[in-house]
Amino acid sequence: MIDESKLDKFKELVENASCISLVTHPNPDGDAVGSSLGMYQILKNMGKEVYSIIPNAFPDFLGWMEDADKCINFEKNAQQVEQVLTKSELVICLDFNAISRLNGLGQLFASCVTAPKVLIDHHLFPEPEFDVEFSVLGVSSTCELVYHIAVRQGWKSFVSTSAAEALYAGIMTDTGSFSYSCSTPTTFHIVADLINLDINKEKIHQVVYNTFSEERMRLMGYCLNEKMVVLKDYKAAYIALTLKDLNRFKHRSGDTEGIVNLPLSIKDVNMSVLFTEQTDGTIKLSLRSKGEFSVNEFSRKYFYGGGHKNAAGGRIEMKMPEVLKYFEICVKDNADKIIKSI
Ligand code: 5GP
Ligand code: MN
Repeated sequence: MIDESKLDKFKELVENASCISLVTHPNPDGDAVGSSLGMYQILKNMGKEVYSIIPNAFPDFLGWMEDADKCINFEKNAQQVEQVLTKSELVICLDFNAISRLNGLGQLFASCVTAPKVLIDHHLFPEPEFDVEFSVLGVSSTCELVYHIAVRQGWKSFVSTSAAEALYAGIMTDTGSFSYSCSTPTTFHIVADLINLDINKEKIHQVVYNTFSEERMRLMGYCLNEKMVVLKDYKAAYIALTLKDLNRFKHRSGDTEGIVNLPLSIKDVNMSVLFTEQTDGTIKLSLRSKGEFSVNEFSRKYFYGGGHKNAAGGRIEMKMPEVLKYFEICVKDNADKIIKSI
């Protein structure tokens, strides 16, 4: 899966760096935070000075991970991020594959990082801007890849229980609790290894999935009851949330997580999209599909986005009613493929 020469080069870069920064994508999800903090613990256990940089806040339900409170949030503390990136002797980018996806942090990154850059990621089409690139599509998650790399490097003894808990959480969230097609027998072998490291998997499941606020739960009910539109003829569904909707339910980061998956539980829905209005006036899309229809290609073609075949994101500068009209046209243009997806 990964050739030895890349592993050797990465090993050498890590051995020669005493200060290492880890960077992940905006709106960090379980895999982003899990892979960052899993790698953080591994490198810390090797005696490195490590920093985990996030472009903006992650949801509260990920805050239990060891050293989650040490993540440096670019939105809140750009100055510290600049200092840390400038002094780092190695920068590792996790769970995304183009510096341009980092928005404001990307500009700072481009201007102050002179150290070698390593990519560890599982998304399609990485940008050729890294010194060492572990871009592996056949893994369930970046967390799985981090564990695989650590073992291949002979770093298994540095994978502590807290590293294992962070990595387990990322695999769990990126595979829909081990249900999506992206998990393979290897995923389960790795999960078994992590469970052997004494992690508390019940606690992780509990805190990630069952710590909703009352408002978040009611937002979910509102989405299903009043906001979900099913385009029966095209086997597609969508939910569109305006800022007014979000404010009504006292929206906090992470509250919309999982909502896009709900319409996919309907028998004849093969594609689901969640539109959320952002404070900057743009509309963010989350796209999911069942079967062969690629929401990655769909989002790339129509919504400046990307991701994976069955899970992708995008963003567009349009008002909500126009976006929805445009979306319905895009769906009609792809009707055949969506209908035949499974
Ligand atoms: P989500 O819907 O959870 O935000 O994203 C689903 C998947 O698509 C994740 O793997 C995420 O990293 C990726 N993704 C989300 N937004 C974008 C985007 O704007 N561009 C690209 N290339 N990938 C995205
Ligand atoms: Mn991921």
